[in-house]
Amino acid sequence: MTNIVHQRHEKDSSQTEVIGLIESVLAGNIRAVSQILTRVEAGGEEIEETLDRIYCKTGRAHVIGVTGVPGAGKSTLIALLASEFRKSHNKVGIIAVDPSSGLTGGAILGDRVRMISLTHDMGIYIRSMATRGAMGGLAGTTHEAIDVLDAAGFTIIMVETVGVGQDEFEITDAVDTTVVVSAPGLGDDVQAIKAGILEMADIHVVNKADKPEANKTIQDIQSMLSITGSRRRPYVPVLSTSAETGMGISELADAIIKHLSELQEDGDGAIRYKLRCERRILRAAEEIITKHIKSCLHEQALNIFKQVYSREKSPRAAAREFLCTFKYK
Ligand code: GDP
Repeated sequence: MTNIVHQRHEKDSSQTEVIGLIESVLAGNIRAVSQILTRVEAGGEEIEETLDRIYCKTGRAHVIGVTGVPGAGKSTLIALLASEFRKSHNKVGIIAVDPSSGLTGGAILGDRVRMISLTHDMGIYIRSMATRGAMGGLAGTTHEAIDVLDAAGFTIIMVETVGVGQDEFEITDAVDTTVVVSAPGLGDDVQAIKAGILEMADIHVVNKADKPEANKTIQDIQSMLSITGSRRRPYVPVLSTSAETGMGISELADAIIKHLSELQEDGDGAIRYKLRCERRILRAAEEIITKHIKSCLHEQALNIFKQVYSREKSPRAAAREFLCTFKYK
């Protein structure tokens, strides 16, 4: 009896904590935002209910993906764009997705130093998310981090990823506007093509326009676009910027804002939004089912597996039989 009362008391106090945390996030409390993002990174079921509730308070932010090869100037550009967006009183959230293992053996986006100049501004929040290995993987945690910042009233959210074709996560699944950044002199004329990301751009940016070779990179991208077209929109602008001199930054900010209004006007935004929601639901369903399947490796299932070891059954036939043995609610 005492035990039941104790458990009920624990449940009530954790409910109160969750509600308090959500209210703080909705009020834009940065400490609460950081606290939740730390839990998102760590993964685990306790945070899921909080995130489910937070999702219902989202939908106000313009989410911008900034991608491109390392060294193109993404971080520097994002810092300048953040200041530009602040001029129109937006609260700006920045998420640097850090594929911190596997691909490169280290944190490619780890160098946040150039962004530090922004941190005195309370209207800008920067978070580097090391996501590999956390529950939900790269995709899940990025979506959830965006939700948290959106609910906290960040009207512009920029997500920085390294455009090296992370197969499990396409930035376009998480954002309204995708900006692909290239730059001259990085060993390949059109790095966007090399990385297979040319087609995902809503806006192309050739950064380091202060360098003489920049014109050639612009021409290369334009001629590639004239051949391949774009699967995103009929006309994809190719803009040039210099994060060094500030040239083209306000034009880029304008083009990003204009893109969102175009999406809203021509109905494309609603179509994209529905597709993104569907992909996200399916991915979540896959995760839930996979987790459930792994927790169901009971004796009966292991007996079925043995028939595959001994080649009495194919893996597919065993999988079918195994799926018949467990119930899923
Ligand atoms: P990221 O890896 O894509 O995030 O690139 P960074 O923002 O870290 O920039 C890579 C290097 O390019 C840094 O040394 C920057 O100072 C430099 N850089 C960034 N933008 C420009 C630019 O417009 N012109 C020149 N000349 N250098 C730049």
